[in-house]
Amino acid sequence: MRDIDYLIVGSGIVGLTCAIQLKAKDPEARVVIVEQGDRPSGASIKNAGFACFGSVSELLDDANTHTDDELVRLIRRRVEGLNLLKSIIPPQTMQYSGHGGYEYFLEHQTDLGQQCYEALDWANKLAQEALETSDEVFSQVDNRFSFARITPNGILNKFEGQIHTGKLMEALSVKAAACGVQFMGGVKALSHSTDRGQVALQTRDHGPVRTKKLLLATNGYTQDYIKDLVTPARAQALITEPIPELKIKGTFHLDQGYYYFRNIDQRILLGGGRNLDFEGEKTTLETTTEQIQSALEDLLRQVILPNKQVSIAARWSGIMGVGVQKKPIIQSIEPNVYCGVRLGGMGVAIGAEVGQNLADLATQNDAI
Ligand SMILES: Cc1cc2nc3c(=O)[nH]c(=O)nc-3n(C[C@H](O)[C@H](O)[C@H](O)COP(=O)(O)OP(=O)(O)OC[C@H]3O[C@@H](n4cnc5c(N)ncnc54)[C@H](O)[C@@H]3O)c2cc1C
Repeated sequence: MRDIDYLIVGSGIVGLTCAIQLKAKDPEARVVIVEQGDRPSGASIKNAGFACFGSVSELLDDANTHTDDELVRLIRRRVEGLNLLKSIIPPQTMQYSGHGGYEYFLEHQTDLGQQCYEALDWANKLAQEALETSDEVFSQVDNRFSFARITPNGILNKFEGQIHTGKLMEALSVKAAACGVQFMGGVKALSHSTDRGQVALQTRDHGPVRTKKLLLATNGYTQDYIKDLVTPARAQALITEPIPELKIKGTFHLDQGYYYFRNIDQRILLGGGRNLDFEGEKTTLETTTEQIQSALEDLLRQVILPNKQVSIAARWSGIMGVGVQKKPIIQSIEPNVYCGVRLGGMGVAIGAEVGQNLADLATQNDAI
């Protein structure tokens, strides 16, 4: 069999979109993905599917460390990333729906709510510039879904949407395979070494795999491969059993985005609570904790669906990759070894762009 030209570790949004872009650039190249699970098994398959580009409270928080121009670029990057994703996988295939995104404020956060309402004009100006629209992006809304224990008003972002995470990942996997990308599941990458222009990837149980170029798309799990490049940040979630006559539609941000929920089919998917134990959640262990799961359940029963009997169908966690800066790391680590990691909580919006940039980087001055 031919030598591997590009060996990608990780089959999340980044790994798969990168592989698709590499084949688009050079259909003859041998592109192989190794994945520790028997199918994509990272955050890309476990996320909440918010196709979002930032709430007003998040923008206000980011304004402490970014200029307005930088904020416009940050929003634009997310919007363009979503457009790129939609150009790779048609919106209907990933069940994209534009129900809008809402930010609400808990009763004890009246001050935060007030600050956000006062910042609406500023936030609209930034978002309008980034989206190149004269339409109002953020507007004040009432408590139209009858949540409890929140302030009377919230903020609607009418451009925010949601996708079906499973459908997106299925479509990306099918597209990559159709482009000729080879997938090797159940292969855990341990380390690599370089020698005379070749890279040898050591794997658990499968021996070394040799390649001309190695690309790491391991995001939050990178910590187990290269220490201290990316901080793992576990995110926990739960989903309810179907709820008859559920009226809630959209994506919702609470408590400065530390909690988020949405409708999916007739269910509520709810995640967050990492702020309850920042240190404990800096882990790549995919378990759930009693502390965070009960906080999620309290929020579900007391705030989101105060008058409904609901049962929890499933609970899970996934690993994100974060760091001091909100920017992804797309760089060469050593000759012929590259990484595209640290996507924070925005992988749906920026994953495809990171995948594309990683492919661009690995093919620059390509001598394959
Ligand atoms: C619960 C939760 C909710 C989220 N909600 C949202 C949301 O609503 N909107 C949003 O934009 N983002 C959200 N995110 C973040 C988003 O999911 C990530 O930013 C995005 O999926 C990152 O994609 P990725 O391809 O970089 O990483 P991943 O999808 O994590 O892919 C990395 C892959 O690499 C594999 N891997 C890792 N190490 C190795 C190794 N050594 N050998 C072999 N394989 C390896 C993993 O198994 C995994 O499949 C959420 C994350 C979580 C966990």
